[in-house]
Amino acid sequence: MARPPAVAVAPGVFRIPTIGSSATNSFALLDDDGSVTLVDTGLQSAPARIVAGLAALGKHPSDVQRIVLTHAHPDHAGGAAEVAGRTGAPVAVHADDAGFAEAGAPPPSDPSIAAGRIFARLPGGHFPPVPVGERLIDGQVLDVAGGLRVVATPGHSPGHISLLHEPSRTLITGDAIFNVLGVRYSPRMLCSDFRMSRRTAHVLGELEYERAGFTHGPEIVDGARETVRLFLAKAVRRDTPE
Ligand SMILES: [Zn+2]
Repeated sequence: MARPPAVAVAPGVFRIPTIGSSATNSFALLDDDGSVTLVDTGLQSAPARIVAGLAALGKHPSDVQRIVLTHAHPDHAGGAAEVAGRTGAPVAVHADDAGFAEAGAPPPSDPSIAAGRIFARLPGGHFPPVPVGERLIDGQVLDVAGGLRVVATPGHSPGHISLLHEPSRTLITGDAIFNVLGVRYSPRMLCSDFRMSRRTAHVLGELEYERAGFTHGPEIVDGARETVRLFLAKAVRRDTPE
């Protein structure tokens, strides 16, 4: 089956898969003036698929005015240096992940779990360093396609953010929650603090939105908030006590 290079999530919001049909996703938000904001840039090898996704939307790399990273992991920030170079666009990332993006090194895994301790000692996970032009903070509303709100959801990484596109009531979760074989928490071995990640995922149940785009998994275009809230309510019952 042919993989579409870009998938509509909401008016002006498109998902660009960079691995498989939805295993890892970037997003493009289109402004009325023709400019584009990219959210996440995939692995180091992803820029070709991002450029193809833009082309499917009738856009050229030179239309990209801003690159927002949900966090400094190699499958989200790995392509950032090349995409920034090809577009000339500045990179925005939460202040608490900015140092990791600029170092090209992800934050350490959660030391409280065995897999995290093993991964923390491995040299992998590095990616091309990228200069950060803007350090984001929680609650900030970016002047992107009518308003893109920064929602801090730390735990997956120290400066992990989700993004709420207010005009289209679309949430981009980042890795705060996945939609891989159903809505689920971020896998604990991928988190810098998985207990914090589980706690802050609940912030997403309190926002107002209809649709959700996931950086891992397909979008939910109807009743996304209810689906997320149902998952969070069940997860709390399952997790207690831990
Ligand atoms: Zn991640």
